[in-house]
Amino acid sequence: MDESKIEKTLVLIKPDGIQRSLIGEIVQRYERIGLKLIGLKMLVPTSDFVEKHYTLDPEWRMKNGEKTIQAYKEKGENPPTEDPMEMSGMTLEKLKKYMSSSPVIAMVWKGANAVKIVRKITGGTEPLTSDVGTIRGDYVLDSYQISDASDRSIRNLVHASGSVKEAEDEINLWFKPEELMKYKLVQEHILYDVNLDGILE
Ligand code: GDP
Ligand code: MG
Repeated sequence: MDESKIEKTLVLIKPDGIQRSLIGEIVQRYERIGLKLIGLKMLVPTSDFVEKHYTLDPEWRMKNGEKTIQAYKEKGENPPTEDPMEMSGMTLEKLKKYMSSSPVIAMVWKGANAVKIVRKITGGTEPLTSDVGTIRGDYVLDSYQISDASDRSIRNLVHASGSVKEAEDEINLWFKPEELMKYKLVQEHILYDVNLDGILE
């Protein structure tokens, strides 16, 4: 098997995922596609840690600010500011409050195309518009409009790394190398093995 195609990605079950008793449902979605769980922990992150997590990518603040301003315009509303950095600063403050409010679960999932596959299963950022069949589309009904009106973060159950680089940085932040398990899953044989020998008796 070509190991270079095998990726690792970070998933966080956010406070609302735990409070809504959806841990099992969420884990099952990633598990049943064939990904391997190689790290798992539960903790209450500090507000500073949450900031560190979201600002690991120096471009996140600019990109997130632009995305949020665009979202306001698409629904015909004036954004509170036209400055992307100021905008994402406001989003970040709300995220710090949300993510440090109670326990979260951090997981590392490994497998072929893990980063993209996990984003696909997770769905788009806004539950109102994320696809049916995704976690955010199926289990939560929040929207930018409602969350912005209440001046809080959109509650979307999970975080998932957005790229291979983001995943690497996030996994290093949340896990020590020795906390990641190295083991084989029996199903990897049928998922990845070229020859499929040793199955028939
Ligand atoms: P993700 O990768 O899909 O989680 O999205 P981002 O990395 O852009 O944003 C991180 C988190 O910030 C999201 O999951 C939301 O909880 C929150 N968030 C992002 N953009 C907005 C926004 O425009 N409005 C509100 N209320 N929350 C947002
Ligand atoms: Mg993101």
